[in-house]
Amino acid sequence: MSDGQRSGAGTQIWLQLTILCLWHDGSQETRLRDDSILPFSAFLTDNFGRRHNYLRISLTEKCNFRCQYCMPEEGVKLTPRGQLLSTSEVLTLARLFVQEGVDKIRLTGGEPLIRPDVLHIITQLRKLEGLKTIAVTTNGMNLARLLPNLKEAGLDLINISLDSLVPAKFEFIVRRKGFHKVMEGIEKAIELGYSPVKINCVVMRGLNEDELLDFAALTEKKPLEVRFIEYMPFDGNKWNFKKMVSYQEMLDRIRQKWPDLEMLQAGQTDTAKTFKVPGFKGQLGFITSMSDHFCGSCNRLRITADGNLKVCLFGNSEVSLRDVLRSGASDEELLQIIGAAVGRKKKQHAGMFSISQMKNRPMILIGG
Ligand code: SAM
Ligand code: SF4
Repeated sequence: MSDGQRSGAGTQIWLQLTILCLWHDGSQETRLRDDSILPFSAFLTDNFGRRHNYLRISLTEKCNFRCQYCMPEEGVKLTPRGQLLSTSEVLTLARLFVQEGVDKIRLTGGEPLIRPDVLHIITQLRKLEGLKTIAVTTNGMNLARLLPNLKEAGLDLINISLDSLVPAKFEFIVRRKGFHKVMEGIEKAIELGYSPVKINCVVMRGLNEDELLDFAALTEKKPLEVRFIEYMPFDGNKWNFKKMVSYQEMLDRIRQKWPDLEMLQAGQTDTAKTFKVPGFKGQLGFITSMSDHFCGSCNRLRITADGNLKVCLFGNSEVSLRDVLRSGASDEELLQIIGAAVGRKKKQHAGMFSISQMKNRPMILIGG
């Protein structure tokens, strides 16, 4: 091939890869992708060039805990069973997203480990070519019992929620008993070789902010990544600004005890800012969705247990993939709907004060 032919072919490929036209909502919309090297689905690429290769699927709206920050005190109205995604619908959607370039799926909820077919779902997901990572976020209550089989089925990563190291306070926050079971789950995860085991701790002023250093100290000897999460507003959780402890404040307090705390290099789409006390086995992370959002590198999409696609955790726009699936739509038709929703994704969320005034689902019905 001559140089002229090579550059002609190159230009053609470049054009094919960079300009992809999507037609949706009856209107013509041109999507420009800044990527000219690796092909990635136009349906999963938004107007700001963000490629969504990470899908979080909520497996259930139910939970064996009632965490104050997630679940309104009066509970939530559960969707009738027939309107929730069935196992085969979950797997059909997962397959479609993976075909389009999703390489990481996180199962969440509600509490995903109370869904009876969770093991089957993970086994089937493992067969999807192109899916590199299967993760679960769990409250840890059933983990010690289920983990050996989940690992065998192909579970790669685990995040376990734990908001207090004081049993009575833990039970006050989650409004249920279970502290020792959760700790057992964490130990089992370490024993089975998960490393790091991620611990999600929502920090709330006046409740568990006094335990920051105790949580950080856990990383001295154990392969944990303790992730401090800024308290976020969702429907029914009585959020207010004063209850939120910001990243900067948490960091300052931890630095007072460990002044040589080192910041670690972040991956392009990492949501946590990670740190390590030199010599400690584990590390610390901060999820700063409120004080320093990371919308610019967001690569996540969510499917709720009732089958709605949510392109932003803090946005209330949703589209029912369940209804489209049940209407007998083809993969192509589903992709058009998904592409249109991704195309409407906003550049960034509205800011914590606007979010707190906005109608959204309670977290338990979204799937964090
Ligand atoms: N039940 C599982 C669990 O608790 O890990 C998975 C679902 S839960 C909704 C997912 C994550 O969202 C948990 O780590 C929880 O701490 C976090 N979360 C829930 N409500 C939150 C809030 N208001 N602010 C910050 N994080 C929240
Ligand atoms: Fe349940 Fe998880 Fe929500 Fe707690 S955070 S109520 S464990 S879904």
